[in-house]
Amino acid sequence: MGKFILPDLPYNYDALEPYIDALTMEIHHTKHHGGYVNNVNNAIAGTELEEKSLLELMAIASKVPPAVRNNGGGHFNHSLFWTIMGKDKGGEPKGKLADEINSTFGSFGQFKDLFAKAAATRFGSGWAWLVVKDGKLVITSTPNQDNPKMDVAEVQGEPILGLDVWEHAYYLKYQNRRPEYIENFFNVINWDEVENLYKIATK
Ligand code: MN
Repeated sequence: MGKFILPDLPYNYDALEPYIDALTMEIHHTKHHGGYVNNVNNAIAGTELEEKSLLELMAIASKVPPAVRNNGGGHFNHSLFWTIMGKDKGGEPKGKLADEINSTFGSFGQFKDLFAKAAATRFGSGWAWLVVKDGKLVITSTPNQDNPKMDVAEVQGEPILGLDVWEHAYYLKYQNRRPEYIENFFNVINWDEVENLYKIATK
């Protein structure tokens, strides 16, 4: 048993059908996320890094071995990703987050377009993010398994929404059609959880 543990999904593998298929979810969770957990555990085993929390590892990503940065990042990113999706979700945010999205991006539709563009134009493997930085909302993207909690990130802050655009996240169902996967992601976003993360990030 390693230091970090693969969390259970907060729903069944078929919960996000038809937008994200059950087989993709099962492989993504057990094989990909499970792999990141095993690999980061192996990479820190017997070293001083074993004493550090996941967030502490993210904060020193520039100084740790690539296996710790990549697999620790993978564990962090997927742990967040599962929670900001859900069954019978989608729609639009409410309350303060909705107000902030409107004042920052003009409208929910414009936010959606900008977020989708960040996800579609991330070359190769990576993530698109909605981040709270100094109390403000910012859209950004990262390569590989980097994230906004890392000291190497271009935009550093609190990620409240993330979209995995690695091919393993969509290829079984969408093949090369990443924009269609991104469009359908908006049908499964759990805005209640994103609003909760926004509240914590702006406390
Ligand atoms: Mn993934």
